[in-house]
Amino acid sequence: KKRNPNETEFHQVVKEIFDSLVPVFARHPEYMEQSILERIVEPERLITFRVPWVDDWGKVQVNRGFRVQYNSAIGPYKGGLRFHPTVNASIIKFLGFEQIFKNALTGQPIGGGKGGADFDPKGKSDAEIMRFTQSFMTELSRHIGPDIDVPAGDIGVGAREIGFLFGQYKRIRGGYEAGILTGKGLGYGGSLTRTEATGYGTVYFMQEMLKEKGLSFKGSTVVVSGSGNVSIYAIEKAAQLGAKVVACSDSEGYIFDSNGLNLETVKRLKEVERKRISAYVEEHPHAKYVQGSDGIWSIPCDIALPCATQNEINKKSAKMLVANGLKAVGEGANMPSTSEAIDVFLDNQILFAPAKAANAGGVAVSALEMAQNSARLSWTFEEVDAKLQDIMTNIYRNCVEAAEDYGHPGNLVVGANIAGFKKVADAMIAQGVI
Ligand code: NDP
Repeated sequence: KKRNPNETEFHQVVKEIFDSLVPVFARHPEYMEQSILERIVEPERLITFRVPWVDDWGKVQVNRGFRVQYNSAIGPYKGGLRFHPTVNASIIKFLGFEQIFKNALTGQPIGGGKGGADFDPKGKSDAEIMRFTQSFMTELSRHIGPDIDVPAGDIGVGAREIGFLFGQYKRIRGGYEAGILTGKGLGYGGSLTRTEATGYGTVYFMQEMLKEKGLSFKGSTVVVSGSGNVSIYAIEKAAQLGAKVVACSDSEGYIFDSNGLNLETVKRLKEVERKRISAYVEEHPHAKYVQGSDGIWSIPCDIALPCATQNEINKKSAKMLVANGLKAVGEGANMPSTSEAIDVFLDNQILFAPAKAANAGGVAVSALEMAQNSARLSWTFEEVDAKLQDIMTNIYRNCVEAAEDYGHPGNLVVGANIAGFKKVADAMIAQGVI
């Protein structure tokens, strides 16, 4: 805390991960001797930069850009870019640190990174978004490369932004390099299933977890927070597996539809028209819109899939969910549950799938996109989807085994942290003191 003052989200994630590594250090003194914790917690590089751009009124605006190149022990830095007004060094470092272990869990050769800017895309014209992303990439392009660092999307960075970023990189470098970004459009090097991968992957992971307890999505009532990329495809897959998804949200409020959400409407409103989720009730008047996104956790459900943002479920919301008969939680977003909320879930024997395992499907398919780009191939939707399912099942098995092996059977928070950490720590030791 002394070295990184005021970085609360970063402290939160480091504490969660380090706490669960206690049994690993008891068994492996070499990690202590090699100062692995001190090394792993320090980013290899943290870049911050000025992003000047001109708005539609001709006024010059300035934002702050970030890229943390956290750890390259097992592959090139890999992780998304977030455009949101709350972005700062703490947010980027918490996401980048978490990303190291998540990427290791996928079994793919990718290191950990993350980036973004304190830019608010809401209410901006397409031309403003383009000018901002071009300025952002003009600086970022010095630091990335297909074998060095490969960014992707995150909050506020979807297909439109990736397209503009890709175009600007190409223009600066004077040629087409497909492997520079993932989440690209299908017409210029993107992978089928990447758009769906995080949401689908979260549901595939939950499916494995539920199966072990004789439960399933079929006939379950599900609540999904957010209505962005991760949420939409979590809703889609859960519904395909027979669940009734009754609610979703945005940062201003939530909608409740007791018939089950009409996903076509949600997709059009959010992906095409870029409207607020409140517009849903204009087309489905029997549904209810409630202001304040936290209230979504008061809706009784069997499975909760938080897919919006960090710390969106606090202790009070967790208790409410449990009191209403909750059976399982799958974290689609990064660190959506506070530490106190996680304790409530674990103390009440709720099945809990932590983000770094449950939402790893997005980055896993990004690694498959890199593989297709290098080989100049495109796999079919079914091929990529089958690989995604295999990867999520493997992550689940590895987490279960690590939790058991280190004396915490059934605790996937501990299992995911240990399985991800060991792979990276062993690679760091093999590569010497660097
Ligand atoms: P999007 O920008 O597509 O969607 C984000 C959604 O969350 C929007 O509905 C947004 O509402 C809502 N939201 C954002 N901030 C808040 C807030 N403070 N309170 C309540 N709701 C909020 O982002 P993604 O779907 O890509 O990302 C969602 C989460 O999933 C993030 O935690 C991200 O890090 C994580 N993730 C994403 C991956 C990916 O492949 N995209 C991969 C792995 C993790 P509004 O429109 O009002 O802002």
